This record gives sequence, C-alpha cells and structure tokens, in this order.
Amino acid sequence: MLDLIAGPSAPGQGPGPDSETRKRIATRARQTLLLDQAMLHERAITHTDPRDLLDPAGRLVPVVSDAWGAETTPGTTSRTQDQDSAEDHDVNDAYHGLEHVNAFRAELFKDSSPKGAGLVLRSTVHYGLHYSNAFWDGAQMVMGDGDGEVFNSFTSSLSMMAHELGHGLLQNTTSLAHHGQSGALNESLADVFGALVEQYVSGQDAASASWLIGKGLFTDKVQGTALRSMAAPGTAYDDPVLGKDPQSGTMSGYVHTGEDDGGVHLNSGIPNHAFHLFATALGGNAWETAGSLWFNVVNTSALPEDSDFGTFAEQTLLQARRQNGAGSMVERALADAWDAVGVVPRALDPARS
Ligand SMILES: [Zn+2]
Repeated sequence: MLDLIAGPSAPGQGPGPDSETRKRIATRARQTLLLDQAMLHERAITHTDPRDLLDPAGRLVPVVSDAWGAETTPGTTSRTQDQDSAEDHDVNDAYHGLEHVNAFRAELFKDSSPKGAGLVLRSTVHYGLHYSNAFWDGAQMVMGDGDGEVFNSFTSSLSMMAHELGHGLLQNTTSLAHHGQSGALNESLADVFGALVEQYVSGQDAASASWLIGKGLFTDKVQGTALRSMAAPGTAYDDPVLGKDPQSGTMSGYVHTGEDDGGVHLNSGIPNHAFHLFATALGGNAWETAGSLWFNVVNTSALPEDSDFGTFAEQTLLQARRQNGAGSMVERALADAWDAVGVVPRALDPARS
C-alpha cells in the first residue's frame, strides 16, 4: 500500500523538526495533497443552475466572499463585478483568479458552448484559521490561508484556483464518479484546465510552460516546486517531511490503493502526462488544439460515469478524427501520447472485445 507521508522520510525520523511537529505538519499536508474534493462526499450535490450566476447582460458574475476565519461558506461578499480593488490582497488575488478563468473559458469554448456557462465564479477566502487546504464544495471554491510552514495562502497559485473551478465546470458537464480511474480522470481534467488557464494568462506555449500545478503554494521551507508536475509526474517535491511526490506518469506505475478514493490524485498523473506529451508534440499553444480537443470530448461525448482511461483515450481519438480527419498528424501524435503512457484505447483493447 502506498502512503504519501510515511516511508524512509517518515515523521519522527532524522534531523529537523521534532517528532510531534513533523506528525502535525505531515497530517495537514496529507489532507491537502489528497482531499481537495472532500466536501463533495459530505453533502448532496445540487447542480448549480447557470442562469442564477448571470447578470441581466448574460455575463457570468464573479463573487469573492470572506469567511473571516470561520469554517462556514460563503461568508460575506468582499468583491464582485464592477467594484474597485479590496484592501485585502487575498480577496483581490481570488477575484483576479476568477476573471482569468472566465477569460480562458471564453477563449476555450469560443463562447459558443451551451455548457460553457457550467463554470461557477464563486470563491471564499480566509476559510478557517491557518487552514491548509482548498476545495470545491459542490457550489463554489473555498480557500484557506495555509499554515505558513508548509503552505502559503491558497490564493497564491492560479493553476490551483483554476483546478478547483475546473471541478465546478466538470460537475456541470460530466457525471464522472469520483473514485478509481473515473475519479483520476476527473482530477486530471481539472489539472489540465488549471494548467491551461495559467499558460493562457502568461502567454506561454506548450514548450515554455512549467506544466506545474500549485506552483507557489509551498513555503520556502519545503523542498519542492509544486503539488504536481504534468510534464514529469513524481518530481514535484521530495521533502524530508512530505516525502516524495508519489505520482506516476505511466500505467506501469499505476497505484492500486483504497486510499484517496482509489488513488484519484495519484493516478491522475497518467492522463496528465499523456496530455502534456500530446500538446508538446503538436507545439504552439496547448489550449488551442490539444485543450480544445480535450474539452470538446468533455462537452460532447457523454462520458459514462465509470469511464476509465481507455474509454477517454478512445473518445479523444474519435474526436481527433472528427476534427482533423483520419490519419492526421494530430491523431498520430495523440495515439503516440496514449501509447507512451501505456493507456490502451478501449476499442483496441483485446481484453475488452
Ligand atoms: Zn481536484
């Protein structure tokens, strides 16, 4: 069984923080690394009616609320559209995050997708005291301030904020179950969305992008650059307290575990890596061909609730044929990417015929 925190660098061993401090930090960090959708399992999900989130002109309305250290949502409204900057920089960072994600949505869907409005631009900041996590609660995203030891404020990473808002979009456009491979696919799609928002806002093409999720979240006490790496899963951090990034980028390293809803944040590295390989093989801006193909599949293919990686791979290949024709360079690059990570498209898998 894989354990994110234990192992050679288990809390309480070696030099550095004392045993109790290590245990405390490790426990908090473990929560963050695994449970960004925790609330989804604790409350009935009611799909948000997108019409409730539009102003009379049909624009999505971004709203940032402040929980003032309580563990309640949404809190009091701190900034919404057409208002000046707030005094609180976390409020402003969260607000800019909502604006960036909305701008990317318009670019990605060319504002033509009827499901594009599945995005919900609602955020609560200052949730809890030194709360070291961020999550999508089924209706909005929620961010803590971090403990200052392992984590900075969760408003410090655009890819992380966009990941959580991506969960909102996916909740309103798919029915993927949040466990096993369908859950890992859900996490990967949220990572792809998060990475693409950051690349779009920074004007980075596929070759120059970092492909990191959560860059800036770790304090400088942590030996690591981000929560996850899409380019090289398993290399985002290697720290005496946190241990080593446990993600694999290929099916040969697939983690079979009962924890983390069956490894949804662990095995998401596999489709993440396939997307990175596909986008970098195509070159140019990752959101244009690769990203639009991925989210066309999400919006049009009615992925079954129990979709596994092979099901998704097959749908992406069918979409590539529809968009670019059979035998196109795009289709070949995509087939090579799935092959490189060891995912067999469903129709080609002899075990399923
Ligand atoms: Zn997530």
